[in-house]
Amino acid sequence: MTHPAQPKASHFINGAYVEDTAGTPIPVIYAATGEQIATVHAATPAIVEQALSTAKAAQKAWAKMTGTERGRILRRAADIMRERNHELSVLETYDTGKPLQETLVADATSGADALEYFGGLAGSLTGEHIPLGEDWVYTKREALGLCVGIGAWNYPTQIACWKGAPALACGNSMVFKPSETTPLCALKVAEILHEAGAPAGIYNVIQGMGEVGGALVTDPRVDKVSLTGSVPTGKKVYAAAAEGMKHVTMELGGKSPLIIFDDADVDNAVGGAINGNFYSSGQVCSNGTRVFVQKGIKEKFLARLAERTGNAILGDPMDEATSFGPMVTENQMNIVLGYIEKGKEEGARLICGGKRADMDGYFIEPTVFADVTDDMTIAREEIFGPVMSVLDFDTEEEVVARANDTEFGLSAGVFTKDFTRAHRVIGNLEAGSCFINSYNDAPVEAPFGGVKASGVGRENSKEAIKHFSQVKSIYVRMGDVEAAF
Ligand code: NDP
Repeated sequence: MTHPAQPKASHFINGAYVEDTAGTPIPVIYAATGEQIATVHAATPAIVEQALSTAKAAQKAWAKMTGTERGRILRRAADIMRERNHELSVLETYDTGKPLQETLVADATSGADALEYFGGLAGSLTGEHIPLGEDWVYTKREALGLCVGIGAWNYPTQIACWKGAPALACGNSMVFKPSETTPLCALKVAEILHEAGAPAGIYNVIQGMGEVGGALVTDPRVDKVSLTGSVPTGKKVYAAAAEGMKHVTMELGGKSPLIIFDDADVDNAVGGAINGNFYSSGQVCSNGTRVFVQKGIKEKFLARLAERTGNAILGDPMDEATSFGPMVTENQMNIVLGYIEKGKEEGARLICGGKRADMDGYFIEPTVFADVTDDMTIAREEIFGPVMSVLDFDTEEEVVARANDTEFGLSAGVFTKDFTRAHRVIGNLEAGSCFINSYNDAPVEAPFGGVKASGVGRENSKEAIKHFSQVKSIYVRMGDVEAAF
């Protein structure tokens, strides 16, 4: 019997599901059991061509609709997503292994927020009027054209919507390629957009590995590439896009600092560290994986952290009581276990966790290392798993310098009751998405993205509009034209 997660076909192009079984089969494995639940096929060159030519052909008419009309479709799609939240959350759990407790509140709901927010903005995307005496200039905010979205595997529904919603609001069309690891959810986003009234060809999804992404990025018809992925992939995609002078948004990895001062509320700081390290089993780009704790609060913080981490419920992700799921794949689990061994070898003190959980699926116990030093591998490299490194510090000046000593710059957080210090420290940290007395909130209204190697451009908020549109400036002369001859 076919598993309920099996999609109708591998791709969604021109308003319909499309299959081409000549493409390499991609098995979809449920991370909680290791069982194969579905198969999709990587896009063949014919499928890539179909998606690009369809999206290119559909875009101009879409851009000519009023923003209000486009927005209405996006908002209708948001409503459908909310109505089907449970079903979409179950699919997200099959795709990623994340517990239903999370997916019910963080995935289709976050996607719906983006569709609703950008749907609401679509009717108000205007230019300006610049008076120049009798003459004047007016500007128009125009679509870029055909945009490509490429997603990572940790938030397949959310990423498909965070890229699709602003792109479509601005009058672009999109071809989206999910990660080969989580190919299911974006197809539902395409299906729902179509059901909500998006014209055929405006939002297409095709499957495949890096080479399909590469074919999309290098195609001369593509005007913009928005990638969520790792820094090495980001460098390759950015370079390929530069060849064609294409616009880019790069949402890449991080090794973000979370700084806890002596005067912080211990339980709130522990809560922030848990949210910033163990949500989605640590598979979150903005995680605050370098937790700098001032020496006066250190032992109290570690004791409370160990106690609360012990309350994590590992188990069947479909059980809403489960609060901690598996790694997305066996491969990712092995990478993370390798980092845990490195942490032990390099002399970090294991506070809790530190091994694969004794159960089916790719579960790793939530792991905390204390006495971590800046040079240790676990403090320098992005792990993308449930491994928290706690580092000690004495002074504000010292911790800011150490926090900034990394190639990454996605996020940063500070816990303190001293508000002057909180704002000063955040002001001095090199990061794009920051938090004071909180961690990892990502409302659609707030810009999201990194500095340094963590990325280029911003998603969400009005900032995203700038990255999916361009300004045309038109000079209007009211009098005669003067010329030299
Ligand atoms: P990868 O960089 O491995 O892959 C990202 C996407 O790019 C995948 O769809 C992948 O395809 C595709 N891809 C790979 N090579 C190429 C290429 N040469 N040209 C075009 N596309 C290509 O990232 P992961 O999926 O492993 O995701 C984890 C990473 O994503 C982490 O580093 C994490 O920090 C980052 N991330 C960043 C976020 C942010 O907003 N800043 C949010 C979430 C994750 P395929 O995998 O199918 O081969």
